[in-house]
Amino acid sequence: MIVMKFGGTSVGNAAAIDRVTKIVTRRLRDDPVVVVSAVGGITTLLLEAAQGAKKRSRKGIQLFERFRGIHDGIMRELCLSERLVAEEYEKLREVLHGIYYLGELTPRTLDYVASFGERVSAKIVSAHFCAGGIPSRPYSGWEAGIVTNGEHCNASPLFRTYAIIHRKLAARKKLPVITGFIARSESGEITTLGRGGSDFTAAIIGRGMGAEEIQIWTDVTGIMTADPRVVPRARTIKKLSFAEAAELAYFGAKVLHPRTIEPAMEKNIPVRILNTFEPEAAGSLVVRNARPPGNSIRAIACKKNNILFNLRSTRMLDAHGYLARIFEVFRNHSIPVDLIATSEVSVSATVDGNCAHKLGEIISELGKICTARTVAERAIVCVVGGGIGSTPNIAGKVFRIVGRGGVNVEMISQASSGLNISFLVKNGDADRAVRLLHKEFLER
Ligand code: ADP
Ligand code: ASP
Ligand code: MG
Repeated sequence: MIVMKFGGTSVGNAAAIDRVTKIVTRRLRDDPVVVVSAVGGITTLLLEAAQGAKKRSRKGIQLFERFRGIHDGIMRELCLSERLVAEEYEKLREVLHGIYYLGELTPRTLDYVASFGERVSAKIVSAHFCAGGIPSRPYSGWEAGIVTNGEHCNASPLFRTYAIIHRKLAARKKLPVITGFIARSESGEITTLGRGGSDFTAAIIGRGMGAEEIQIWTDVTGIMTADPRVVPRARTIKKLSFAEAAELAYFGAKVLHPRTIEPAMEKNIPVRILNTFEPEAAGSLVVRNARPPGNSIRAIACKKNNILFNLRSTRMLDAHGYLARIFEVFRNHSIPVDLIATSEVSVSATVDGNCAHKLGEIISELGKICTARTVAERAIVCVVGGGIGSTPNIAGKVFRIVGRGGVNVEMISQASSGLNISFLVKNGDADRAVRLLHKEFLER
């Protein structure tokens, strides 16, 4: 069997959904299980609706009307009854009213609100399969067996989830259309896997089912040498390794959720990235070993909006345990640290900007150990390629090129795995750095 995941643009309107059903229909022989995202833009709309309701503005209810209008329009075009998702509309309207009256919005409620995008899209896509004569059934992430920890907005699957998925889906009689992104915790609350999490859902389902292939159908032809929105001349990378794809995804290549590769790699399941709007194109294939001949740099990724911590203390001189104490603070707040550089008296570390709300507490705790300063709006530029570690003078060339372009590099990290060189620049300099590097290493 294979898993076929379709992202927000791929299910973005009636014509796109019709396209999706045709693509799947042509592959019925491969015994597919389908995973879908919310209609493009809907998750952002739902999160804004929840925030609007919390602030007691009319915006919450207005956005609810827009949510309903968009889906009603799609269902009308697909000749589906509006009653199909009446229950979801009602539940969503009720919770937005609840948030409005209480003026309170917890991460748990936010996940509950966000879940409606996928709950509605899965029902619509599944109903369109049925209308086309292919028996299908919509599944929520939890009906498909995904159980997570309780970390709302960024939950992780529990190990036993894989056996449950296998049990629940092995007995399938109709084509399953599963909601991406959403699941349930052990205590029964709805959780989400982080923005863009439907890719991760597809990989989790793929691992649970022991799939032959996990297909990520999106709006670009595979993983490219850079984000095509930043570098129009970016090209599709035909084949890359799990490790390369994981680095790219983690450092900003939005085409894959950062954790998609984990479950696939554990069971050595190939991941193929394909274009819904150009279905015959080969796209990219991610496999265990994919060492290309020649060029050691495969792609340039970029992740904006990070916060840089500059930590100084003379206590680090000759001391042991100092770094452990610093990272303990980040761990206690469940904040992943991305880049690190250390000298004898200072430590630089970056974290994702979405931790900004925890900043005050972290700085005050770090203040007990060292002098802590932060700078926001920093971008990580990441040069990725399996051969970087074994090719002389790549780092020299990288920094000469960005330096000549007038970009100031604030921090550098190159791990011994030899897979990437990452550095930090101002948000505003990032696209220029990416274009310069792409031109030098990938357009010749
Ligand atoms: P989906 O809704 O299908 O999950 P996303 O918007 O999450 O799609 O991801 C696809 C987008 O990722 C592309 O439109 C592209 O702009 C962006 N992207 C960023 N980096 C890359 C890259 N290296 N290769 C391909 N796409 C990339
Ligand atoms: N709908 C979710 C989001 O927009 C998940 C996804 O599209 O993968 O973040
Ligand atoms: Mg995505």
